Amino acid sequence: MTTAPSTTDAVIAMRQVGTRFGDHVVHAGLDLDVQRGEIFAVIGGSGSGKSTLLREMILLQKPSEGTIQVLGVALEDITDEAALALRQRWGVMFQHGGLFGSLTVLENIGLPLREHTDLADPLIDEIAHWKLSMAGLKAEVASQYPSELSGGMMKRASLARALALDPELLFLDEPTAGLDPGSAAGVDTLVRTLRDLYGLTIVMITHDLGVVAGLCDEVMVLYGGQVMEQGSAEAIFYKPSHPYTAGLLAAVPRLEGGDAPMLAIPGAPPNMAKLPAGCPFTERCVMALPQCGTVRPVLAPAVHDEHVLRACHLNIEAVTDNLQRLKAEQGVAA
Ligand code: SF4
Repeated sequence: MTTAPSTTDAVIAMRQVGTRFGDHVVHAGLDLDVQRGEIFAVIGGSGSGKSTLLREMILLQKPSEGTIQVLGVALEDITDEAALALRQRWGVMFQHGGLFGSLTVLENIGLPLREHTDLADPLIDEIAHWKLSMAGLKAEVASQYPSELSGGMMKRASLARALALDPELLFLDEPTAGLDPGSAAGVDTLVRTLRDLYGLTIVMITHDLGVVAGLCDEVMVLYGGQVMEQGSAEAIFYKPSHPYTAGLLAAVPRLEGGDAPMLAIPGAPPNMAKLPAGCPFTERCVMALPQCGTVRPVLAPAVHDEHVLRACHLNIEAVTDNLQRLKAEQGVAA
């Protein structure tokens, strides 16, 4: 059982969500609340279950157990009619854009309006032009085809389409993946501006810790389909209290680090068909205790900050001390 925050104004509320494909466990007992107006990031490596989580939020997949509410609507047993209505209240920017190659950018952006409204074509084009400019693209891009766009322009065009129906909720799937640092920073700024101007609630899944640190309000760290740590971006980035989060952050190259080696998390992602009964990070955790493989740590408020949830048998002082020792042993900048 977790002690997830109140759901009174939660735009998304997940409770005890579990997902399995045969023996392959994707999630186990996940709780999650996304509050209105916040930018919420789910981070984790490949195989952590973050993509499946997103697919479950946007009705592309059903969990094996647990409940999901989005914008106050329960997704279990949702009718086709209710699903259609709900899909019009959110927008999705897919990792690879998801634009139709045979349509121009303007036609791609106008597509949701053509599918879901009775608006006349000239008005749809006018709205699509407006969304194009909201996404920071020049008017001449309207007549181009997706194959003519750079990676950054593709993301922006996809974002413009996600905004076509004036959604309350925006989902971003790896919004900066494949972009150079300049383009990634541009998308980062755009997303923040959209949230501030239009009061959007934004959920993103990403492995780009740089974008999370600069953009997000709340961060959930997944590993092996379970929540390792959750809290404000500030708390997670400046005082990580979980060995996995600390390892993730320590592995990010830093300009001031010069040629110093990065701190690697040893081993490979877990075999999801053979997860240990205890902490899923056990086999790779250089700080593991004897009970870690057999006793599952409970996700609970941290002693140092009750707004941070963490699932670890080790206290934060021990995590910090161990991390400093490992960095010193490996010659990594503190
Ligand atoms: Fe490492 Fe044990 Fe904490 Fe898991 S519970 S992160 S194995 S110390």
